[in-house]
Amino acid sequence: MKKVIILGSTGSIGRNAVQVIRNLPRYKIVGLAAYRNHRLLAQQAALVKPQIITLINKGQHRNLKRKLHRVKLLSGEDGIAEMIETLDADKIICALASSTGIRGIMRAIERRIELCLATKEILVNYGSLVMKKARKCRVRIIPIDSEHSAIYQCLEGRDRDGVMNIILTASGGPFLRKSLRNVRKKDVLNHPVWKMGKKITVDSATMMNKGLEVIEAYHLFGFPAHMIKVVIHPEAICHSLVQFKDGTMLAQLSTPDMRLPIQYALTAPDRIPSTTTYLDISQQKTLTFAAPNLKKFPCLDLAYRALDAGKTMPAVLNTANEEAVRLFLDDKIKFQHIPKIIEKVVAQHQPHEGNLDHYMQATMWAREKVKSIVC
Ligand code: MG
Repeated sequence: MKKVIILGSTGSIGRNAVQVIRNLPRYKIVGLAAYRNHRLLAQQAALVKPQIITLINKGQHRNLKRKLHRVKLLSGEDGIAEMIETLDADKIICALASSTGIRGIMRAIERRIELCLATKEILVNYGSLVMKKARKCRVRIIPIDSEHSAIYQCLEGRDRDGVMNIILTASGGPFLRKSLRNVRKKDVLNHPVWKMGKKITVDSATMMNKGLEVIEAYHLFGFPAHMIKVVIHPEAICHSLVQFKDGTMLAQLSTPDMRLPIQYALTAPDRIPSTTTYLDISQQKTLTFAAPNLKKFPCLDLAYRALDAGKTMPAVLNTANEEAVRLFLDDKIKFQHIPKIIEKVVAQHQPHEGNLDHYMQATMWAREKVKSIVC
């Protein structure tokens, strides 16, 4: 029996992960963690009967405690680390919506718990530290992000020296063929393909999501930025590609359903039947591909530049974006202001290396900087 901890179990990926694991033979959920959705967390706890659950938001702790029977309840970010320390887990699914829980993730790697990673912010902010630790502890990190899962699968068993490019596909978001003038929030939150949380849906509309994925790919696969390409593919059937030096391209195709990359991250390299709708390629009339428009979507270019600068710069870019998106969702700024704010913040940052605390300080600096620009 493989024992799994899910961080972020009440979000879109987390809910799918619970469903996937309940359908997988020989897998059992031993720990769940969520930010603040105590009602759903209590329901999930009743359903899967984990040993420990953690609610990060301490304010709802008492409400949740009343609803639980025979489950240990922890709270706060420290609760995540304690849960990881206490449970004898084989795998951890990290699907929190931000890099909260990074200390717990580092501890999980030290404890040689295999990491199934959906939270790209963990690698964008702390990629060099996380990958260094994973290499040292010989722990596999298997991506859940659909594009990275695709590339992981295309690279499996291949000689890295034969790779020419890795190519991330992007649906292009709701504004691929629409003007960015007078954009309304409801249009931004209406993604044409994927039903996801608000933050990542805004990131898809600005294409910052793809920018963050380029940085994520850099850390996961270890290829330089110039070998990581982006192509627009609105059908979201081809989840990414690898081009080899002989001209061959390998791709992974399937219906857009996050349950598939979640399951593969858990079972890799084994393949077992899944509950996703299987793709009938004969019914798929067209698959289109096009170059991205960096002028219209400057966030993608900002991400490449942050990756070139390296060190703490991607963490600053990501945090400035998080803060700008939050302000947009709170109706404090307009959609077009998001890239402008990020650009101003990164222009004022001197990137440096350091330990986890240094990187965290850089993120706090970026958060304050956004506030000082906007207010
Ligand atoms: Mg993705």
